[in-house]
Amino acid sequence: MSVKQKDNEFIAATYGRFPLVITEGKGSLLKDEDGKEYIDLGTGIAVNTFGAADGEWINAVTAQLNKIQHTSNLYYTKPDTELAEMLCTRTGMKKVFFSNSGAEANECAIKVARKYAAEKKGAEYNTIITLKNSFHGRTVTTLAATGQEIFHKDFLPLTEGFVYAEANNTADLKQKVSENKVAAIMFEPVQGEGGVMPLTKEFVSAIAEIAENQDILMIADEVQTGNGRTGKLYGYMNYDILPDIVSTAKGLGGGLPIGATLLGEKVKDVLTAGSHGSTFGGNPVCCAGALNILSRIDDTLLAEVREKSEYIVSELSTAKGVKSVTGMGLMLGIETEKGANEVIDYCRENGVLVIKAKTKVRLLPALNIPWEQLKTAIQILKEACE
Ligand SMILES: *Cc1c(COP(=O)(O)O)cnc(C)c1O
Repeated sequence: MSVKQKDNEFIAATYGRFPLVITEGKGSLLKDEDGKEYIDLGTGIAVNTFGAADGEWINAVTAQLNKIQHTSNLYYTKPDTELAEMLCTRTGMKKVFFSNSGAEANECAIKVARKYAAEKKGAEYNTIITLKNSFHGRTVTTLAATGQEIFHKDFLPLTEGFVYAEANNTADLKQKVSENKVAAIMFEPVQGEGGVMPLTKEFVSAIAEIAENQDILMIADEVQTGNGRTGKLYGYMNYDILPDIVSTAKGLGGGLPIGATLLGEKVKDVLTAGSHGSTFGGNPVCCAGALNILSRIDDTLLAEVREKSEYIVSELSTAKGVKSVTGMGLMLGIETEKGANEVIDYCRENGVLVIKAKTKVRLLPALNIPWEQLKTAIQILKEACE
């Protein structure tokens, strides 16, 4: 049986896969089973921050693997404490809970928000306002947080207490806040799966003001926007705000599964012994890898991310067949005159891997993609859009 046949037979059919078996890679170049090479502008959905099989990251991961791979949270370990310290130092958050995915990082954020509000304002203050077109994960609770009905269908009833406000509509947000007993407002600085749509500065300022005035927690879902993706270390840093809770995952581990929920001053002591946990959370191998990734996302790299972003936007926004370019940093959505699938297929046939968000072509290249490869890939993408 071919890989594709075996996958069809033995793997649950939850994914619409591209007709491609990836076998290996180095940096932003990937190879398929026939040895054909591709420039990768998708990084496994914003996960492989420094591309495939990055040498420094491999060294950090294998050094830890050679010591011990897992201890459980019954014992202290060094990599998770160092990673937590670095996350706090670089964000102003105060404590971290580690898990294994974006959905879990958001579950923790939601639990913390509900517990804080219940203790401070009363158990009836349990509503979490999220945004229409948001994406927060696939567990029953993070599906409830996700403001897109299409994902809810077939899985009702979901966790109660989520209300959806329209993104970038302050009046609607204020109305939803006034109609409910609200624990938190949760948002992605740039909606990723929803079509790579950044929130406006005005709207995020309005969230911050409402949050501050009414002791409502501000939760930034930075699962996709975090870890340098938007040209700042975390997406919220583009907006001059400090959330109470930041969840992140995808790019933090550089390719190994890790989720982190960062807790600010107000909520740093909400979680107490026994109130939350995760067997794999804070895994030393994942944390050693993440420590390497995070320590390399410095000002020089972030400036390069912004420079590459400007290059892509300037090339594509005036290109034939391109209707619009949205997003921030190296998280960009291209609205094309042709269908996105047609553009994606042309790119793949010509050695460039791009992905989709709603009806848009989505670009999430490695933060250190070499200029030459980026330029080649963008020229092919331009051809594809023509
Ligand atoms: C991908 C994503 C998630 C879910 O992350 P998983 O690791 O797949 O659970 C949650 N929120 C946002 C914004 C995401 O992009």
